[in-house]
Amino acid sequence: MTATNPLLDFTDLPRFDLIQPEHVKPAITQLLADGRALVDRLTADSTPATWADFAGALSAGLEGFGRAWGVVGHLHSVNDVPAWREAYNEMLPEVSRFYTELGQNLKLFDKYRALKQSPEYATLSAERKKIVDNEIRDFRLGGAELPEDQKPRFQAIMEELSQLSAKFSENILDATNAFAEIVTDEALLAGLPDYARDAAREAAEKAGVDGWKFTLHAPSYGPLMQYADNRELRARMYRAYATRAAEIDNGYSKPEWDNGPIMKRLLELKAEDAAMLGFNNFAEVSLYTKMADTPAQVLDFLRDMAKKAKPFAEKDIAELKAFAKDELGLTDFQPWDAAYASEKLMQARYAFSEQEVKQYFTEPKVIAGLFQVIESLFTVKVKEDSAPVWHEDVRFYRIETPAGELVGQFYMDLYARETKRGGAWMDEARSRKRAAGGIQKPIAYLNCNFARPVGGKPATFTHDEVITLFHETGHGLHHLLARGEELGVSGIHGVEWDAVELPSQFMENYCWEWDVLQGMTAHVDSGEPLPRALYDKMLAAKNFQSGMMTVRQLEFSIFDMRLHYEFDPKGEKTVIDLLDEVRREVAVLIPPEWHRFPNSFSHIFGGGYAAGYYSYKWAEVLSADCYAAFEEAGDPFDPVVGRRFLEEILSRGGERPALENFKAFRGREPSPDALLRHSGMIAA
Ligand SMILES: [Zn+2]
Repeated sequence: MTATNPLLDFTDLPRFDLIQPEHVKPAITQLLADGRALVDRLTADSTPATWADFAGALSAGLEGFGRAWGVVGHLHSVNDVPAWREAYNEMLPEVSRFYTELGQNLKLFDKYRALKQSPEYATLSAERKKIVDNEIRDFRLGGAELPEDQKPRFQAIMEELSQLSAKFSENILDATNAFAEIVTDEALLAGLPDYARDAAREAAEKAGVDGWKFTLHAPSYGPLMQYADNRELRARMYRAYATRAAEIDNGYSKPEWDNGPIMKRLLELKAEDAAMLGFNNFAEVSLYTKMADTPAQVLDFLRDMAKKAKPFAEKDIAELKAFAKDELGLTDFQPWDAAYASEKLMQARYAFSEQEVKQYFTEPKVIAGLFQVIESLFTVKVKEDSAPVWHEDVRFYRIETPAGELVGQFYMDLYARETKRGGAWMDEARSRKRAAGGIQKPIAYLNCNFARPVGGKPATFTHDEVITLFHETGHGLHHLLARGEELGVSGIHGVEWDAVELPSQFMENYCWEWDVLQGMTAHVDSGEPLPRALYDKMLAAKNFQSGMMTVRQLEFSIFDMRLHYEFDPKGEKTVIDLLDEVRREVAVLIPPEWHRFPNSFSHIFGGGYAAGYYSYKWAEVLSADCYAAFEEAGDPFDPVVGRRFLEEILSRGGERPALENFKAFRGREPSPDALLRHSGMIAA
């Protein structure tokens, strides 16, 4: 039976023509059993701690499981019909348990350590060394090296951390759900677009009340703050939003939703966790696996950028306040006027029709343009190819060298479907490695949710969608143009978390190049390329309020880093005091003193971004700085720079630290100047 299970066929491409939900359980069950038997055998005393007998054998032995489960996860994402959802969910706990076992198997840790200490280690390739080092590092961060009597306490901290961060998010959700603003006087809705009114009407009907219901959820709150002419309504909503999950009684809150004590406890536990592992603070733990070296380095980076961006932010806010006063009669500008006045200012100064732009980005032109960018930059060819697929929408391509040698292959699934997960993402079907029969070539999935063609005309994309497509393709190229020969550090594997977005954001730059856009656009009716006047408006709108937005991101990033670096949760100073300090340093829009932003900062308290929020700006800086190398050469397709980018960054995967990749390409440390320039913030 299993011999004919197509999920177990690893000879080449996934068998999407044959794989059915009923294949999942038998295939995954068998692969898990094989995996456990392999781990037992490889961790036995009789197995020598060598690359070939242990680390290499483990990686090769578990690859099939990873690939099969990858196919199941992929089908669950792109074909989420009940049978696939059930098949996926049935095995998910089993798979999670297996990974947890691997992470806690100290015999694996011992073998890796023995390999590291053996004479063989010095003779391993850079890739293999890196894999061994990464494994040992991850076991250490998981507490594997702690004295036995400290392990229970460490485990308890981990559990309390995960419970508290879940509770943190739940409190925000409960507080968000508890609030409703019911409007019964239609006059109060002035300014709101129809879609926002309709949604509010529907929400009211659903709740069994008359009128219009507004909530603190983004699709309701956002448009209201942006468009509602009624200032008192905006002020009420703003206050309700700003005091969620806080100690402040705002009329709908409950004391048990207060995230204040949870934040304090989370910070204490993280500090204890860091101390047990031998670090000075949690920020050091977070950065240990990242590209940035030290908290001080990150803070220097953020502050340097803040110093450069702040004059532009001050100009933005002055312009906004002047506009609000002169054009909207708002003489005493308040924080709840910011989104509203910004929208009006944007319309007055930089308006253009997204719909008009969309008519120029016709699918065949965009795809051909994308492939041309790839071909020119990296001296490869992209060709249509054929393979079994999971839906008739899907297309399949191959990347070749100029001599016709296969480099990698990818699936492209562009259109939205009811059974497809939202958003856009890149995933891998197979990674590059050296195998017995030669090099195994990588395969990737590129998935988007664009509107399909209608009425016999090609599909048209918004400019944002084109940027999304280039972004995901950047992740795809990171995987496909790899040169790695070991799974653990090939392509996107083993790349530091704050460097992963470099290739994707790098590719976005090409969507703003006038010459590229000329070749990539053809009006759906007239066939004309994008007009220059429209392009100029797009550029102006791109940088609208970029100063203000930059300092806001920097405020959050500096606050997060200082909180996990130098803040004492047991000390006199409160979390709010610290945020006030940061705001005095970088912000241009200071919220009222009752604003409780930290209480809903779920990225760092409810998610995995603690001492990592800076990554957003960090990756933007890296990608802009890489792109600037092409600008300096005077050609976005400069072949010499392109080859160096491929050689030093894109093809390296996780083989070498990302900072070394960057320095090898740029010849220096990253600088924020290119990003500031691209955002219209050039020092006068
Ligand atoms: Zn991305």
